[in-house]
Amino acid sequence: MLWHDFRTRIGRYHVERDYPALAATSGLSAHLRFGTLSIRELVRYARADAGEGAQAWLAELIWREFYQMLLWHYPDTVEHAFLANLDALPWPNPPGHFAAWTEARTGYPIVDAAMRELARTGRLHNRLRMVTASFLVKDLHCDWRQGERWFASQLLDYDQAANVGNWQWCASTGTDAQPWFRLFNPVSQSERFDPDGTYIRRWLPELAGIPARHIHAPWTLPAGQAARLDYPPPIVDHGRARAATLALYKSCR
Ligand SMILES: Cc1cc2nc3c(=O)[nH]c(=O)nc-3n(C[C@H](O)[C@H](O)[C@H](O)COP(=O)(O)OP(=O)(O)OC[C@H]3O[C@@H](n4cnc5c(N)ncnc54)[C@H](O)[C@@H]3O)c2cc1C
Repeated sequence: MLWHDFRTRIGRYHVERDYPALAATSGLSAHLRFGTLSIRELVRYARADAGEGAQAWLAELIWREFYQMLLWHYPDTVEHAFLANLDALPWPNPPGHFAAWTEARTGYPIVDAAMRELARTGRLHNRLRMVTASFLVKDLHCDWRQGERWFASQLLDYDQAANVGNWQWCASTGTDAQPWFRLFNPVSQSERFDPDGTYIRRWLPELAGIPARHIHAPWTLPAGQAARLDYPPPIVDHGRARAATLALYKSCR
């Protein structure tokens, strides 16, 4: 059913796949994880469709296979950074940061909305997995392995190869990873991929009444209004956290 439904939407996948408020991706990951759908059948279908949507989707199936291959050949990457120089990175793990992230209390609406959806449903859009993982590691300065274990305990589609590979990608410690000096800005990611705040309002009803221009960063509301919200101030300043992250990674180069 899911697969037949997705086939009617696959042509738009490449343009809509990054917007968590839309039902634009296949939702097939748990079926692939547990083998209730054949990866070979899906690859055959995608290869026979030359459209941009199907080709972009095929690339995602290939990422899955890549991470399976990686785990098979490098089982140590479950516990160790693939890039040896970053394995001993001295993660500060500041007290309270990991708990605030898991409990959706960081004060960054896109992060908290995603963490709330994950805790309530066991599902999470790929863009939001990247944003929350990057935030834990590069804004909150927590070891990526803690985040990997938390996702493992929450995700319905948990797959060790995909989870470890993607966490290492986000932490810049893996193969073909996001470069360590590239950091997601949680506010601009939110403005770009949830422009009118539809996704945030769905999971954080306490922010539902905030105008779109402030919903990505409620602390920008006029003085007094932010204080009246039932929502915490930002746990860290992104600019300062970013500078500390760059210094941390530079120390291990
Ligand atoms: C930090 C982090 C952790 C992740 N943990 C998991 C996990 O435990 N299990 C899991 O299946 N995926 C994981 N992913 C990859 C991806 O987020 C999910 O596969 C995707 O969101 C599932 O939704 P979908 O089926 O609608 O995907 P679609 O966009 O429809 O993609 C089709 C299929 O391709 C595969 N796929 C897509 N993106 C990726 C990717 N980046 N890496 C590997 N395979 C991919 C999945 O099997 C997916 O079902 C993770 C990504 C990140 C950034």
